[in-house]
Amino acid sequence: MPLRVTVDRKACLACGAAPSVCPDVFVLDGKNRVVDKYSVSLTDAVSVGEVPDELGECVKKAAEICPVSAIKVAPI
Ligand code: SF4
Repeated sequence: MPLRVTVDRKACLACGAAPSVCPDVFVLDGKNRVVDKYSVSLTDAVSVGEVPDELGECVKKAAEICPVSAIKVAPI
């Protein structure tokens, strides 16, 4: 089942942890965002992406490690 990943870019501290643990999905671009390959919408405030099932562990790890809980992951 694919996953919807939402990054609250206003909350993001740009600590770099998300891109570090899950570089296939996240990149620092001022603040964290979903990479172009999986991005469905991007603003200064929010980045939304849709990622395949096999990247679920990766995005969940990033969500868990984020110090401000800026990453949400939900099944589509
Ligand atoms: S772990 Fe959280 S605060 Fe750090 S770059 Fe990722 S989204 Fe931003």
